[in-house]
Amino acid sequence: MSSSARTAGDLFVIAAASGTGKTSLIAALLERCPRLALSVSDTTRPARRGEIDGQHYHFVDVDAFRKGIEASRYLEHAEVFGNYYGTSRERVEALWREGRDVLLEIDVQGAAQVRQAHPDAGMVFILPPSLSTLGERLHGRGLDEPEVIRRRLDEARREIGACGDFDWLVVNDDFDRAVSELAAIVTAWPLRRARQSWRVRQLLDEDANAITIRD
Ligand code: 5GP
Repeated sequence: MSSSARTAGDLFVIAAASGTGKTSLIAALLERCPRLALSVSDTTRPARRGEIDGQHYHFVDVDAFRKGIEASRYLEHAEVFGNYYGTSRERVEALWREGRDVLLEIDVQGAAQVRQAHPDAGMVFILPPSLSTLGERLHGRGLDEPEVIRRRLDEARREIGACGDFDWLVVNDDFDRAVSELAAIVTAWPLRRARQSWRVRQLLDEDANAITIRD
């Protein structure tokens, strides 16, 4: 039987400090792994230029978000830089029903909640080659003042310190290599023995005496 006999999809979390290049890595990973689908989060932050509602995020107001929390509609949620972000439980389950594996691009607070609720989720943390490279990248984006960059670097240091929640660390020093490493993780994760106990059972259920052996 092929691996399509798997019933439920896998869940992956990718987190990183801002400026680590996570978004581009994830876009390339999704192209390499067609079974993998990115769950689009809800957020209360305003859309940035070029962002499309329903594609980059579902942009909701604070009231709707709080109601969602009360109704347990979020698999995880967190406040990041003064805005709420959350993963819709229903959206993840719908993707699983479609036979997809689901990828969450979330922060470390949300990742810790996923670890609690889904201990079998594959958790990947992307590291910058160094804090100084990260500082240069943030500066190169031209989005933030030096003071903001310093705060982001402090935040990055805090997030990197929380990487103990994660199973895998990928360093984004060489983009193509980092994408290959992410794809390798996504490929290897469902091969864990615990994930394939059905396969072992199926083999052991076969009746060895009923097998015709040719001379
Ligand atoms: P941005 O506003 O730059 O798109 O995202 C800010 C941070 O929020 C990033 O670290 C991003 O990974 C995180 N984030 C995006 N969606 C979610 C989510 O659904 N849950 C959590 N916990 N964090 C999220």
